[in-house]
Amino acid sequence: MKLVFASNNAHKIKEIQSMLPHSIEILSLADIGCTEDIPETADTIEGNAILKANYVTQKYGFDCFADDTGLEVTALNGEPGVYSAIYSGARCNADNITKLLDKLQKKTDRSAQFKTVIALNIDGKQQLFTGLAKGEITLEPKGDKGFGYDPVFRPVGFDLTFAEISPQEKNRISHRGKATRQLIDFLKN
Ligand code: IMP
Repeated sequence: MKLVFASNNAHKIKEIQSMLPHSIEILSLADIGCTEDIPETADTIEGNAILKANYVTQKYGFDCFADDTGLEVTALNGEPGVYSAIYSGARCNADNITKLLDKLQKKTDRSAQFKTVIALNIDGKQQLFTGLAKGEITLEPKGDKGFGYDPVFRPVGFDLTFAEISPQEKNRISHRGKATRQLIDFLKN
């Protein structure tokens, strides 16, 4: 079975392929000749995952899955959420973190969660898988691993930020790891 992952991130594609039986072949967007930017214009994380998966299935006729992730901060009514990548205007992680810490300066509740939604179109049906990682926004960035908001996100039960723990440990407890494992279990059964 061929299944498109609506991504060109070679690392993500290899990782998922390694967790699946050989009978399932994961194709990237480049593999199917999709070179255009897929619109991500929905106003929810779920909506964007669905948009991306539907785009590929409708335009290219493949079964497909797509993911979308955002950081939801309680005291900011769920911001930056679906706009996490461009919170400060540009795709700059440091500026996004600065804006987030500024907005939280006078707030006592620093709780937040990462949310990943994977939308899967298969055999004419759609399935959604959601992974959550709950935690807190720290007062200042710490650590140099990971990406995005990792240096200011401390998961529940840890004294360290996502940027201070190993990629393996992060994958075990992260939003993306949880959503991906649900997808894999579904595909295996
Ligand atoms: P995407 O949907 O995976 O492209 O994620 C959108 C944005 O959310 C990224 O540009 C990052 O700013 C942020 N983000 C997603 N996943 C993570 C993560 O695991 N750690 C920190 N930030 C993340």
